[in-house]
Amino acid sequence: HHFSPDMADALYRKMTLRHHLTLALEANSFELYYQPIVDLNNHKLKGFEALIRWHDEELGQVSPTEFIPLAEETGQIVPLGKWILKTACQQLASWHNKYDHTFIMSVNLSRAQLQTSLAPMIETLIRQYNINPAQLALELTESAMLQEYDEAKQCLEDLATLGLELYLDDFGTGYSSLSQLQDLPISTVKLDQSFVQGEHKGSQAIIEATRAICEKLDLKVVAEGVETISQLKYLQN
Ligand code: MG
Ligand code: MG
Repeated sequence: HHFSPDMADALYRKMTLRHHLTLALEANSFELYYQPIVDLNNHKLKGFEALIRWHDEELGQVSPTEFIPLAEETGQIVPLGKWILKTACQQLASWHNKYDHTFIMSVNLSRAQLQTSLAPMIETLIRQYNINPAQLALELTESAMLQEYDEAKQCLEDLATLGLELYLDDFGTGYSSLSQLQDLPISTVKLDQSFVQGEHKGSQAIIEATRAICEKLDLKVVAEGVETISQLKYLQN
């Protein structure tokens, strides 16, 4: 394989990011953005998905699609994930006090976080912030759950026992393993935004089929990435 300057650039970028990620973890220079989840039955705000953003002084805004895989590779996703959970719980508690309304907060989890210590850690957090477990949802992708399935399953069952909700994220883009929907303690399916935004040939058919399956299996559905009135109307119908 011939060397090309691109290879050096990519490696240099990765090393720089890795270094800055370590500094950012120490300095707490991450931020959470909260994407609203709306109940289509009454058009009321039901909750939020917490999304991490990172602005580095030197590197500028770094996309999560770039730094999350890197943090997963280095294991930094574990402390980072802990920070996300804590910050999201803190925010939820502060909104609860301010608006006297019970929102649901959903937090994305990485496969590496599914360890036996996760459930006790979350239990401590929800006690600390006085959060009803049903108000906290954890999102996991299909591929994350399929890796070392038995180990992950135990961890998910511990989380469900705490009373948390589990969401299957990005549904339709991975293996779409239908057996998982019944095997795992999932309450909600999150339909990937590429279907809502009509990026696939059979997007509408897939949306309708997913809804039908979820209805039969008694699962809730959240459609991701609704950005236009026509998308909203379609989903409503
Ligand atoms: Mg998600
Ligand atoms: Mg998603």
